[in-house]
Amino acid sequence: MNLILLGAPGAGKGTQAELLSEQLHIPSISTGNMLREAIRKETQLGKQVKQLMDDGQLVPDELILSIVAERTAQNDCKNGFILDGVPRTLSQAKALDAKGLQIDHVVSIEIDDDMIELRMTGRRVCEKCGASYHITANPTKVEGICDLCGGETVQRKDDAPETVRKRLAIYHESTEVLKEYYLGQQKLRLVDGKGSIEETFAGILAAIGEKYDHNQK
Ligand code: AMP
Repeated sequence: MNLILLGAPGAGKGTQAELLSEQLHIPSISTGNMLREAIRKETQLGKQVKQLMDDGQLVPDELILSIVAERTAQNDCKNGFILDGVPRTLSQAKALDAKGLQIDHVVSIEIDDDMIELRMTGRRVCEKCGASYHITANPTKVEGICDLCGGETVQRKDDAPETVRKRLAIYHESTEVLKEYYLGQQKLRLVDGKGSIEETFAGILAAIGEKYDHNQK
């Protein structure tokens, strides 16, 4: 099953992508995490995108499309994948279609801007592995330490309030049009993202026709 997760920054895409990945046994591909890793490792790509990302701007389509093409061609994607944070523009969506990437469902996590601004201030990410937490909704077991890898959890630079407002404006301008595009392809599934992590997850599973796996950790 190939899925796309849409939603404003802070809607919970990363968290839901991780849960879906565990339940469906397919990898979650986050362009944001891949780019942050490139910045940490100070690669050529990292150097190209750092300023734009710190500033809350979108990274050029060509760079995004090449990292997605490379990642989805890997062996672990042969039974499916979850795209988190990509496509973000109509031209990215059209380019993915042109590459022949078959998408089954496009899930849009729906949430108001006011709630997003509140949520973003509490978000923390692991510096080492990119896992995402929230200081009240989804805290780490030990404060400041990632449950998965023991790395330090920090606030993302682009989660500062003024950058969040800029990212929301970009979302409404560039990304929301994607809903219409995928509605036209009859792939769009709207899911309420205002409830708890578990409620949103249940909503997503229902929308893509999957049952909750109670054996999952
Ligand atoms: P995210 O972690 O998905 O919120 O992405 C963080 C930042 O990475 C964004 O604000 C953009 O600067 C960049 N980025 C991630 N995915 C994309 C994309 N598909 N297109 C353009 N820029 C992206």
